[in-house]
Amino acid sequence: MKTKKARQEYSRLVSTNMIIALLGGFLIITFTGFYLANDYQRSLLAEQERLRILTATVASRTQLLIGRVAITLKILDEWCARNPEKDPRFDPEFNALIEVFRNEVHGKIEIRMVTDTGALFFFPSKDAKPLAFTGDREYFLAIRDRPENEIYFSAPIIGRVTGKPQIPISYRVRKNKANAILFFAAVTFESLDDEFADLLDYPERSISIIRKDRMVLYRDPFNGDIVGKPLNFTPSPKGYDVIDVYAPRLMRRAIFYQELDGLPLFALVADSYARMQRAWLKGAALKALVAIAILAGYLLLNARLIKLLGKNDEMQAKLEVAARFDGLTGLKNRQYFFERVTDETERAHRSGNPITFAIADIDHFKDVNDGYGHPAGDNMLKKIATAINANVREYDILGRIGGEEFAILFSDTGLSVALDAANRIRESVRDIAVGTWHASLSIGLVEWQGRSEPIDSLVKRADDALYAAKKEGRNRVIAG
Ligand code: GH3
Ligand code: MG
Ligand code: MG
Repeated sequence: MKTKKARQEYSRLVSTNMIIALLGGFLIITFTGFYLANDYQRSLLAEQERLRILTATVASRTQLLIGRVAITLKILDEWCARNPEKDPRFDPEFNALIEVFRNEVHGKIEIRMVTDTGALFFFPSKDAKPLAFTGDREYFLAIRDRPENEIYFSAPIIGRVTGKPQIPISYRVRKNKANAILFFAAVTFESLDDEFADLLDYPERSISIIRKDRMVLYRDPFNGDIVGKPLNFTPSPKGYDVIDVYAPRLMRRAIFYQELDGLPLFALVADSYARMQRAWLKGAALKALVAIAILAGYLLLNARLIKLLGKNDEMQAKLEVAARFDGLTGLKNRQYFFERVTDETERAHRSGNPITFAIADIDHFKDVNDGYGHPAGDNMLKKIATAINANVREYDILGRIGGEEFAILFSDTGLSVALDAANRIRESVRDIAVGTWHASLSIGLVEWQGRSEPIDSLVKRADDALYAAKKEGRNRVIAG
């Protein structure tokens, strides 16, 4: 028996909780979405930063190596200028300088000489017979038109003597005894590969050296489709770009580049843009999983809370019943009965209809307990309560107000009609018996005198009538 107010409060609590659950779920999803999107940006930036650092490393190593080559070439030219009568090919001092350089670069870079006729010599030379002719080489043809003391980076070639891919770094020299017009350092791809061996962590990454006009001089890993050809990119001041190198979209590459100090070269590092994006995925999957777990936990907790609310509501309803009704007979208990009586007197006052009040006491009830035990007494009480309840109207109020005392308020009923009803009630318990004990009721009946009469007085008068009924021999109704 739940009040309307309690029911409203319960449904309000449940719907509030549902709204909170939905809102919380929405917040978790939104937050996770924003977090992952932000995480993606951060991850991409971190990948870019790694590549930027890698590019700087490649640039500084290249700078160091080429710088050493350039200085050596200058020193050799200087030696020739100072010793115009000496032929560098056969001179021990000149060849000692070459040897120093060779040691510095661990024998990986060789210095050669080309004469004005294109004849190629190694150092030291055994005789004046050239090892090969390079008159058709780009670096030979290009260097003739160039000023002295200038470094020129040629397109990569396959060495005529060594058979290895290399970048010839040529240097236009001054007039000398050997008729050399250029010295060049053959920087093999092999030596550059060694130089950068520790830098390529992913197969998608590549390291390149690019001439200022975008020609690819070197690339690791080697790719014949790229090396010696112009690369399609326009350097921007930010040093970074994402370009569709091979096939649009499919193989977009992020390229990072850095111009070398005083050299017409770029160090360039490229990576698959897809790989850089993917780097985020592995961590993101785990984070998303955690978020899903949190969401599931949150929703489960809320479902549990709603269930608990329901249980609590049920319990409260039970407590309310327990507080208002008598456990043995199921009738209203004394307190609730009189609450209802108070309401009813108010109602009667408004309507002007009469109400009649009765107290019924079981006769000789002690004998049941004494003769047949307390449980038998309880059983009789239940039966009598059921019988009385069956004989009052729905809108009459019936309660158990004492151990074996019942009270009835007959709504909208005057004394004479109530008298009939009371007698009907008295009659209704006639057949209830245990052993030789037969149930009967003594009933005191009084009509309320209106608002001027307090409930206490009403009860007192009914009690007096009841007392009179007992006195006159029990099993009767006395109207007071
Ligand atoms: P009288 O006709 O004068 O009313 O005689 P009586 O025996 O009914 O006398 P009284 O009203 O003084 O005694 C009531 C008895 O009812 C005493 C008590 O043990 C018993 N009783 C009261 N409540 C309960 C109950 O819940 N269960 C049982 N078994 N007995 C109860
Ligand atoms: Mg009694
Ligand atoms: Mg009694």
